[in-house]
Amino acid sequence: METNKSLPIAIIGAGPVGLAAAAHLKVRNLPFLLFEAGATVASNILSWRHIRVFSPWRYNIDKAARQLLSNTAWQSPDDEALPTGEELYNEYFKPLAELPSLKSNIIFGAKVLSIGRKNVDKMKTWGRESLPYVVQALRENEIEQYYVKGVIDASGTWNSPNPIGSGGVYALGEVENHNRIFYGIPDILNQHEIRYRNKSVLVVGSGHSAINAILELDKLKEKYPGTEIHWAVRKNNISDVYGGQENDALAARGALGIKIEELIINDRVSVYTSFHIQQLINQENKLTIVGFQGDQRLALPGIDEIISNTGSRPDFSFLSEVRLNIDTSLESVAELADLIDPNIHSCGTVRPHGEKELRQPDKNFYIVGSKSYGRAPTFLMATGYEQVRSIVAALAGDMEAARNVELDLPETGVCSVDLNSTAACCGNEVKPKIQVMKRANAGACC
Ligand SMILES: Cc1cc2nc3c(=O)[nH]c(=O)nc-3n(C[C@H](O)[C@H](O)[C@H](O)COP(=O)(O)OP(=O)(O)OC[C@H]3O[C@@H](n4cnc5c(N)ncnc54)[C@H](O)[C@@H]3O)c2cc1C
Repeated sequence: METNKSLPIAIIGAGPVGLAAAAHLKVRNLPFLLFEAGATVASNILSWRHIRVFSPWRYNIDKAARQLLSNTAWQSPDDEALPTGEELYNEYFKPLAELPSLKSNIIFGAKVLSIGRKNVDKMKTWGRESLPYVVQALRENEIEQYYVKGVIDASGTWNSPNPIGSGGVYALGEVENHNRIFYGIPDILNQHEIRYRNKSVLVVGSGHSAINAILELDKLKEKYPGTEIHWAVRKNNISDVYGGQENDALAARGALGIKIEELIINDRVSVYTSFHIQQLINQENKLTIVGFQGDQRLALPGIDEIISNTGSRPDFSFLSEVRLNIDTSLESVAELADLIDPNIHSCGTVRPHGEKELRQPDKNFYIVGSKSYGRAPTFLMATGYEQVRSIVAALAGDMEAARNVELDLPETGVCSVDLNSTAACCGNEVKPKIQVMKRANAGACC
């Protein structure tokens, strides 16, 4: 009879972090199965394949993955170059997934629908720890069932975008006008050019994705001057969106803030701050966006298209039979909430964390990657690589390696602080350098 010990570890999602988990499990010689809903690995990154990321290659490749690839004819990309999403896929994720030792354990087109403990529901405690997990995945219209020893949920948040309605719920008329809203990052200059040229486009959101969309719309406007760019943000002050600019340790990330400020100074974009969207009204094929700016009602007529970049949220629907400890507001792994809560600070750097912080009440169950941050938007791939390195070490019984967490992350150059908080990070101090922090001497967040 197969014992629990010999069962594989299930990884949910073959994004950068799920793939890194697979690489670490391979290096540790632990069996695994990697379930991927899409037809390829890194399918979420491929949805914005045309965008150049802001962290150079040296942060984007996991150490165990590099070790496995180094034993092949793989050419390591230039450490300092900035890849596009497509280059990440072609030069790293694809060759990694094609390694025979990984490939044979990846199940594509397998969307995990539910996970529970074999024969016991969430309420039952006695004997629970020794029971395998049951993973059910939908594949080619059939539900397949697998028994596994533990689960690493790396399913991300990208597939559950937030609505544009200001309260986190759909604005009235949002669902009815879905065909006019792009949730994500359209390829404005190529694939989706026809959709946006000479149109009046509203971008909603204040993160890097929104900035990318606006910069591309501005290039489109140079070619098609009839293109109008509107930008709605909930923030009170647009300068809060500019980020660390010259002080960002990732020059490309800082450059986004510098470029967007230029566009605004030159009146290339109409900006609506403190805009809380309530309703979309479609009249004669033009949308009027209705909301509030403080106490004032604001109506923005004549919009053809909306690009929604309001962030995303984790999907817990398939985890209802698993005992989880999730932060009630961020929906992050509970232990991480104080490190990443944008209500407290906006540091791009987080205190090192690993298996101990990511452990869930149900043994051998972990939520990692961008999903571990819940709704907080500051996740970097390098953080996830360190998370899974530590978790896999623990699963292999190497608790010393699991505890010895190091995080090597570039800082944003912005570390704003909630002055009421004792968990303050580094104030407005600027540290444009790379920090390596060990658990033993890690401060609050910077
Ligand atoms: C425009 C842009 C630029 C960025 N630039 C940078 C950068 O410069 N540096 C950086 O570090 N990060 C950057 N990021 C962030 C980075 O891309 C994400 O943090 C990273 O993709 C998260 O990886 P993940 O593996 O946690 O999740 P994802 O990449 O979202 O992967 C999750 C995977 O899980 C699969 N999945 C989901 N649900 C299920 C299910 N139920 N069953 C099976 N499979 C499932 C999905 O299909 C997907 O393949 C950027 C993001 C964007 C949008």
